[in-house]
Amino acid sequence: MRLTFLGTGSAMPTGERFQTGLLLESGDDTLLVDCGSGVLHGLARTSGGYEAVDAVLLTHHHLDHVSDLFPLFKARWLAGATELTVAGPTSTEALLDGLFDVHEYMQDRLDLTIREVDEGAFSLAGFDIAATEVRHSMRCLAYRFAAEDDHGGDTAGVTGDGSIVFSGDTESFPELVEFADGAAILVHDCSFPDDVDVSNHPTPSSLGRVLGEADSEVGRVYLTHLYPHTDGRHEGMLDSIGGVYDGDVRFACDGMTVDVS
Ligand SMILES: [Zn+2]
Ligand SMILES: [Zn+2]
Repeated sequence: MRLTFLGTGSAMPTGERFQTGLLLESGDDTLLVDCGSGVLHGLARTSGGYEAVDAVLLTHHHLDHVSDLFPLFKARWLAGATELTVAGPTSTEALLDGLFDVHEYMQDRLDLTIREVDEGAFSLAGFDIAATEVRHSMRCLAYRFAAEDDHGGDTAGVTGDGSIVFSGDTESFPELVEFADGAAILVHDCSFPDDVDVSNHPTPSSLGRVLGEADSEVGRVYLTHLYPHTDGRHEGMLDSIGGVYDGDVRFACDGMTVDVS
């Protein structure tokens, strides 16, 4: 399974990072997770392009995770790649209905399947997925992804069972690390440095503490959802985490790919 970070930014752009989007590929299966502003451009830079996406899975409905959905729909319509599934938590259908009401000319342009998902296990676009609710200001799901068929690939030194976990937007808490136990990769929200007073997102110290105190193990942690406040602060943020957690922690950046098997 290959993970590509399409967008590692947040609701406040820096010019360096698009808003949230992760691309998962395994063989011919392609799943986009979240579709914030800029993600459509990020997709256009990949070899498969935006036409290759089989399904979009949303963690939650904040704008920095959904705002490129309709630009993606229009690009798909114009490219003739009209078949697409969009899945997400409760009220994803209402969100899309509302957007189609506003952008009336987009109605019936796509062969769209809409699915609402909840905590537990489900399959989507060739991936086996588990979901758990996280701690954010609106209902948000974290996901654990495993490829249904392991098509192999370079492991690049990452240990774990070959699965990838994405936290969505969330505070750090022990049950989420347990949810990621044994995964090769945990992609975790790390929106701000320690000196920003924040709720609904973690700080490096709080994330490090939860990772360090957990009995669970993950192969590697990638930090994402980075606000401008984190610019130039990466070393200090890694020191905060490293002081209480001795695992492999790195910053994600747009365009980065990681292969796990
Ligand atoms: Zn959010
Ligand atoms: Zn967000």
